[in-house]
Amino acid sequence: MPHDPYRALYLHLPFCVRRCSYCDFTTSAASQDDPRIDKYVEELCLAIRRKSKEGELSAIETVYLGGGTPSHLGMSRLSMLLYTLSTSMRLEPDIECSMEANPESLTPNMVRDIWALGVNRLSIGVQSFDDEVLRTLGRAHDAQTAARAIEAARERFSNVSCDLMCGIPGQSAASFEQSVHRAIELGVTHISVYPLTIEPHTPFDRMVLSGELPEPDDDVEAEQMEIARDILQSAGFERYEVASYAKPGFACRHNIAYWTSVPYLGIGTSAATMTQNSERRMRMTDGLVTDDLNAAQMAAEDLMLGMRMTRGVSDEAIAQARLLLPRLDETIDELISEGLVHHSDGRLRPTEKGWLLGNELYGALFDLA
Ligand code: SF4
Repeated sequence: MPHDPYRALYLHLPFCVRRCSYCDFTTSAASQDDPRIDKYVEELCLAIRRKSKEGELSAIETVYLGGGTPSHLGMSRLSMLLYTLSTSMRLEPDIECSMEANPESLTPNMVRDIWALGVNRLSIGVQSFDDEVLRTLGRAHDAQTAARAIEAARERFSNVSCDLMCGIPGQSAASFEQSVHRAIELGVTHISVYPLTIEPHTPFDRMVLSGELPEPDDDVEAEQMEIARDILQSAGFERYEVASYAKPGFACRHNIAYWTSVPYLGIGTSAATMTQNSERRMRMTDGLVTDDLNAAQMAAEDLMLGMRMTRGVSDEAIAQARLLLPRLDETIDELISEGLVHHSDGRLRPTEKGWLLGNELYGALFDLA
């Protein structure tokens, strides 16, 4: 279908040194010299070239190399990939180019080389600075390696993010707090904080079912998310999305693109693409359509996605959505009276309670269409 230009590009790199116990992402454990990785990267480069020739990369503003573990590819494959990218699209400093890395494979040399090849934001999968917790998660690094990786990243990158996880069985409030403080101390400019979720068919799922591992406690997770918010806000981080905190100017533009319905192109196994025009929005993964929305459903989804972000949605956007969603005002009134959203400075914004009861809030808006 004729579609608006893609403005965000996601490249999926589905290989890791080993699988973590909670992971349900599309990724395989592979040794670094596994020829499957070479074949995959070659095919990915060809796909990038093809999309470039078709003119699909000309309006890209953000690029994200995710996984899996992109740093597990090693430098020669990353060079090939980033070189292909730089000859296929405009990869100037104003384009945000993020790469995920894990502490065990991010070396100081890799930091220097990917920076020289156009990556300008590093997102490091730390999860915790507590060795015991990292062992429970089945991660391949320890706390010291994580700290060294962040220090190495900061030698070249001003934009460094790390992921932290809460609600992990055996993780005390003190351990979690210490991890948040450690990340701040190491000078990262962006932190994502996620509660652990037990995904079907993972080792954690089997352990919970057999009683070997307690199920994560929602109240503990909510408390730990609040602890993180308080510590990070007093250290100068802004919470711009339910799970994302950034120093001023360091919010992730690529993730904001997903939450503001910017069309995105995904290349690689299981990478989702969102294609849209003013009447239709489609999401596709591996050639299969996973979503096919009409204009009213798009409006409802835009409101729902907007509620993930602190800034919420503008009155103008609500006025546009009202033309397609007849029950909108009634629903907004209900959400306000339940304390899930509030109105301020010409915008409808989520409240803390709205985020805590996210499924209720998002569901009420999505069900409008
Ligand atoms: S490093 Fe990330 S993608 Fe790889 S197995 Fe662990 S959680 Fe999954």
